[in-house]
Amino acid sequence: RSALEAAQARHATLNAFVQIDPELTLQQARAADAALADGSAGPLAGIPIAHKDLFVTQGWRTTAASNMLKDYVSPFDATVVARLRGAGAVSLGKLNCDEFAMGSANENTIFGAVRNPWDTAAVAGGSSGGSAAAVAARNVLATTGTDTGGSIRQPASFCGVSGIKPTYGTVSRFGMIAYGSSLDQGGPLARHARDLVEMLDVMSGFDPADATSVPSCNGTRNESGRVRDAFEAALATQQTQGERPLTGLRIGVPREFFGAGLADDVRAAVQAALAQFESLGATLVDISLPRTELSIPAYYVIAPAEASSNLSRYDGVRYGHRAAEFGDLNDMIARSRAEGFGAEVQRRILIGAYVLSHGYYDAYYLQAQRLRRLIAQDFQQAFAGQCDVIMGPVAPTVARNLGDNQNDPTADWLADIYTLGVNLAGLPGMSIPCGFGQGDHARRPVGLHLIGNYFDEGRLLAIADCYQ
Ligand code: GLN
Repeated sequence: RSALEAAQARHATLNAFVQIDPELTLQQARAADAALADGSAGPLAGIPIAHKDLFVTQGWRTTAASNMLKDYVSPFDATVVARLRGAGAVSLGKLNCDEFAMGSANENTIFGAVRNPWDTAAVAGGSSGGSAAAVAARNVLATTGTDTGGSIRQPASFCGVSGIKPTYGTVSRFGMIAYGSSLDQGGPLARHARDLVEMLDVMSGFDPADATSVPSCNGTRNESGRVRDAFEAALATQQTQGERPLTGLRIGVPREFFGAGLADDVRAAVQAALAQFESLGATLVDISLPRTELSIPAYYVIAPAEASSNLSRYDGVRYGHRAAEFGDLNDMIARSRAEGFGAEVQRRILIGAYVLSHGYYDAYYLQAQRLRRLIAQDFQQAFAGQCDVIMGPVAPTVARNLGDNQNDPTADWLADIYTLGVNLAGLPGMSIPCGFGQGDHARRPVGLHLIGNYFDEGRLLAIADCYQ
């Protein structure tokens, strides 16, 4: 009840939630209470959480922050939602996000922008802006988010919380509204790495309902396949090293992540964090990810291409918005989509349809796929001999002011430069708080980006825990 009240009290300022339903929440809380009383409680019994409005939920509406789905109620729960409820977590409701997860500022939403709890003139980041703001405002202990090109890590960075995008295929996408299916991956946001461990341990694991779910590893290199076991094993190794727990750890620092365009205050905060890692025993290694800049055109071809295909299901026939007035069937579909989708979503659909069309497919889509392969190889080369983990900034600047890039949508796209490659390669990546901006931005947090090799999230989380 107190978490609910706090969330409702902060709502007017932050706009992090899109639906709070005290009765549904209290039902779940009572079930958790009963489980605690009879000894059947799961590991998250009674823990207040909330879901990005991209995960379908029985009972609550699932809107994807779009007019297209504004009244939609799913007949089933996403796997992630079902698993968290099964573990006893109590959902406070649904969280604001960019429409169909397309955006970097949580301004593309029919519910109005989310504000940053640290500085309400600033954006919360996107697309999981509500998920980051609700944790930063201490409304919930953890939230779910999705990350197609940075949407967990960048809002976590802007709001001074921690967030992890696990290895592609380790968290089920069943019931997670599709944007770019080969890039989309769900994950948790919370204050600290330890809370992420508890969340991810429940969220990850094989799901036969998701065709790309990884059958055996379940998100870790650990034998049991559990994130928590892999985390604890990595932690135990660190503990044997005493005062300098990260002795022997090689941190790759990609020079392309520190070029022109990186703001001085972000550079300073990230470098201070790297120095801290050195004092914990780690060694910094200069590495190169030469195609970092090319991840932007590669991603902004592939993601819209997949989106144009995924979003073709919203035709006004089966579900979602249908125009009130129309002529023939084609007119009905056209009007429903024109009314249902916001400007950014329409822009992506147009780009996607264009790059997939006859005559342009080879020039754009195929080229982008080739680049994607090369970008993934660059990461593999770094992990093969040079380093165990990669670190750098999550975003080139701290959170910008609300409304700033309204007339220039691609300005935000360029700022995704450090996060996109991780999704193109399918690697795990996380953001942890490492300081603040400077001057006018002294209240705007900076995040440190940690990138691991496939299935290394247990170790990533242990490294983050050591710093935190
Ligand atoms: N900002 C990127 C985009 O708009 C990433 C969004 C995401 O990860 N969902 O596509």
